[in-house]
Amino acid sequence: MEYDHEIVKIAKCDCCGIWEECTVDYIGFVKEQFGGSWVCGLCSEAIKEEQRRLGVELEVAMQLHTKFRETATIDPTMQIARSFLHLLKKMASSRKSMSQSLLS
Ligand SMILES: [Zn+2]
Repeated sequence: MEYDHEIVKIAKCDCCGIWEECTVDYIGFVKEQFGGSWVCGLCSEAIKEEQRRLGVELEVAMQLHTKFRETATIDPTMQIARSFLHLLKKMASSRKSMSQSLLS
């Protein structure tokens, strides 16, 4: 009996850093596809999508995806701006309801 392909190892995504338990076979399969790097299911789907959309090499799509993920997580400016807008909206609506309750 050959159980080697059933050995489960922890593989870490080169793009988002998430880890998953995968069979050695699957890890090898993914690494082969992505030039020696292991990427999680979500990232591999996104990379393939990017590749289709831009018509670039898989490695290029992967680099783009990694960069996109880095800027999305490391650069908090967008997140701050977004939550600030959300806060403003919240303040505006609560002020409105406050003045309404004062008037009534
Ligand atoms: Zn990932």
